[in-house]
Amino acid sequence: MSIASKPTAIIHGKIILSDQILEGKTLLIADGKIKAIDQIDSINKNEYDCVDARQKFITPGLIDLHIHGCLHHTFNEADESAFQTILSKTLSCGVTTLQPTLVSAAIPQLCRSLDFIATWKKAQTIGMSQITGAYLESPYISPAANGAIPASTLRIPDDGSIEELLEIPDALSMLMIAPELPGAINSIKKITAKGIIAALGHSMAIEKEIIPAIDAGASHVTHLWSAMSSVVRHGPWRQPGLLEVALTNPSLTAEIIADNRHLPPTLMKLAVQSKKGSLCAVSDALNGAGLPEGSHFTVGDQIYEVADGVGMVPDRSCFAGSTTLLNREIPVLIEKVGLSIPDAIRMVTEIPSRIIHIDQETGSIKSGLSADLVIFNDDFTPVRVFQKGITVYSVN
Ligand SMILES: [Zn+2]
Repeated sequence: MSIASKPTAIIHGKIILSDQILEGKTLLIADGKIKAIDQIDSINKNEYDCVDARQKFITPGLIDLHIHGCLHHTFNEADESAFQTILSKTLSCGVTTLQPTLVSAAIPQLCRSLDFIATWKKAQTIGMSQITGAYLESPYISPAANGAIPASTLRIPDDGSIEELLEIPDALSMLMIAPELPGAINSIKKITAKGIIAALGHSMAIEKEIIPAIDAGASHVTHLWSAMSSVVRHGPWRQPGLLEVALTNPSLTAEIIADNRHLPPTLMKLAVQSKKGSLCAVSDALNGAGLPEGSHFTVGDQIYEVADGVGMVPDRSCFAGSTTLLNREIPVLIEKVGLSIPDAIRMVTEIPSRIIHIDQETGSIKSGLSADLVIFNDDFTPVRVFQKGITVYSVN
C-alpha cells in the first residue's frame, strides 16, 4: 500500500462514467476524493503523483450487495482471519465496498455474527473491501423456497426473535423476509423504522400478500428468479408472484446473480429491460468462490460442490450460491446481456450504491466522492485498486 503524499493524476485511461467513456482526459484525486476530470495538458506533472493507466478502463470501485464469502470462509464465521481472507480476496477483484451477507442460522449464532460485523465496521481501515452493515438472508423465509438455506433454522417473524436481531446496534443494513409469513408485515414496519432496508425473497407469496409488504416499507427484492414465486393459477385466475411484482413495481429495487449460471441471458435481459436503473448485479458468492472445480464446501451441515462454475447441492437439483466474484460478472453483462460498458459498470457500482443509500460517498466517478477506483484490463481483471485515493492493490 502506498501513501499518497501529493494529489494523484491518473493519465491515459478510459474513464467510465455513467453514460459515456472518456478518453484523453486525466482523473485528478486529492485528499482521498475525486477532484476533477481535466484536459491532460492542463496539469503540472510535478504537482501530482502520476499513474499511467495505459489505455485501460478506469471504473468506480465495485460494490457487491450480496456476498457470503469465498475461499472456504463466510461472514457467518465471526472470525478475524476469515474476514481478512474474504475481504482481501474481494478487494483484489476490484470490490471496494460490500454488504457482508449472513445465511440463516440459530438466533444466538446470528447475534454473534451481527455483533462481530458491527465491531469490524467501526474499526475497519482501507486495504480490504469496506463493509457496510450486514445483509441477513434471515430465518423468516418460506420452507417451500429455502434453496440452500438450512431448513432447520427457519422461523416465523412473530415468534419474538426478530427483535433480538434488530436490537444489535449498527449491525444490519438489509434484512430479507418472506411477506406471506405470520407477522411479516408488522416486522417489515419495525425493520424499516430502524433505517434497515427490508428485502423480499425466498418467498412463495402471491401479489395480494406482497402489496401490503411494499406499503409497509419493503423496497428491495433478493436474487430475481432464485427461490421465489412466479405466476400461479387459482381456478381460472392468474395470480402474479413475487417475480412479476418485482419486475413491474417501481417501488422495488432488485438484484440478479449475473454469473451466467443462475440465469440464462434471456432472463437477465428481461430483468434489465423491466427494472432499468433499479437493478444491480450481485455475486451471491458462497465459500466455494475462488476454489477449483470439484472442490467441496459446507454451509451449516450441508456439503456443496463447485461444479460447472457454480455451487451445487449434492443431487445437482439446485444451485447453492455462486462461485463467481463480482468483476467476473461484468463480461457476462456486456457479452451475454448486451449492455454497453457504462451500463454494465453501473449495475455493479452506481446502482448498488443508490440501493443502500451510499451514493453520496462512493459508487460513481464524480467530483467530491471517495476516490474508490479500479484500473481494469479489457477482460475486467484489476490492475490497480484505489480506496480513498490510495493504491491498495496492484499487479506487479
Ligand atoms: Zn438466497
